[in-house]
Amino acid sequence: MLQQTTDFIALEEAYGAHNYHPLDLVLTRGEGVWVYDIDGKRYLDCLAAYSAVNQGHCHPRILRACVDQAERLTITSRAFRNDQLPQLYQVLHDLTGMEMILMMNSGAEAVETALKAARKWGYQKKGIPAGRAEIIVCANNFHGRTISIVSASSDEQYRDGFGPFTPGFVTIPFGDAKALAAAITPNTCAFLVEPIQGEAGVVIPPEGFLREAARICREQNVLLMTDEIQSGLGRTGRLFAGDHEEVTPDVLIIGKALGGGFYPVSAVLSSREVLGVFRPGDHGSTFGGNPLACAIAREALGVIVDEHLAERSAELGAYFLDRIRRIKSPVVKEVRGRGLWIGLELDRPARPYCEALKERGVLCKETHERVIRFAPPLVITREEIDWVIERLQPVLAA
Ligand SMILES: *Cc1c(COP(=O)(O)O)cnc(C)c1O
Repeated sequence: MLQQTTDFIALEEAYGAHNYHPLDLVLTRGEGVWVYDIDGKRYLDCLAAYSAVNQGHCHPRILRACVDQAERLTITSRAFRNDQLPQLYQVLHDLTGMEMILMMNSGAEAVETALKAARKWGYQKKGIPAGRAEIIVCANNFHGRTISIVSASSDEQYRDGFGPFTPGFVTIPFGDAKALAAAITPNTCAFLVEPIQGEAGVVIPPEGFLREAARICREQNVLLMTDEIQSGLGRTGRLFAGDHEEVTPDVLIIGKALGGGFYPVSAVLSSREVLGVFRPGDHGSTFGGNPLACAIAREALGVIVDEHLAERSAELGAYFLDRIRRIKSPVVKEVRGRGLWIGLELDRPARPYCEALKERGVLCKETHERVIRFAPPLVITREEIDWVIERLQPVLAA
């Protein structure tokens, strides 16, 4: 029987593909912002599974909804209707005002769905000549890992060895509205953008960028598609990051916290004009919209609303950011953030700092080598933030 941390790690290293470089701890239990390793040591989770668990680990309400639904009906496929999917549609419509919704599982699948919808809309509604549709994306984006999505990436590692790539993507600098306007051609069907770039290191564009992008897209009959898979559902202090600039996108892509940390659930929300391009057989997913996913997502959204997690994120995020900014450290280059989503950029590799924080009971993951991202579950308290700061201070000072 496996008992020691080293046994689990050795087994994982032996049989698992090495497509991640995890911190060497073996977690076995979680509750709220806390996770516990197999030796019973507790850690405060400042990654929240890349914001997939904004509601906190094993939230009792979502757990109950999950177990109740798992005991009743878990999957029908979309060959038959189920009683959970329409109820989730109602909640999503009421929250966003969007007219049509398409359920998928992972974030990457939802992005793929948006790309397909945008292209088809371009041909059917905008009159783009067959096979010529272009989609504009931003440098340093992260939209997932499929072949088409990495075709739209500017990150060499994401692409290296995976060609040939899907054509039809045009890249502009992130945050540059002038470049967006200049890149649009009669064949442009959409602009796909993260309102704040997460994997790039919590990169916030210049004030007004998203609003200006929305205006340009509207004028040029180009769909604005916001990837809110990580930035959405309360993370930045509003329900969606686009809300900071009162921008309603034509296509809204969500995932991660939509599953409350229990289950992969993603969705594309848009208008009848856009999602209406799909006819039966055009697109689908065996698991997309299954009753278990829908019951979990409905409760996951209920928790975000009822526990005012977006408001908490705004208030506690400002507190956390201020406390981090006050830390005097020779290695800190920049601290930036919005809500409980903070990027701490160092002048050197961040990995050893994440390792040192882990030893003190704080779990963070470096992104893009020099940035430590702080994105705890939104249920974190002020006292727990103080607890993190007490541990961060000596690590950054050293
Ligand atoms: C995580 C993420 C994705 C991909 O989601 P998966 O569920 O990992 O496929 C896409 N876009 C953004 C902005 C993300 O953060």
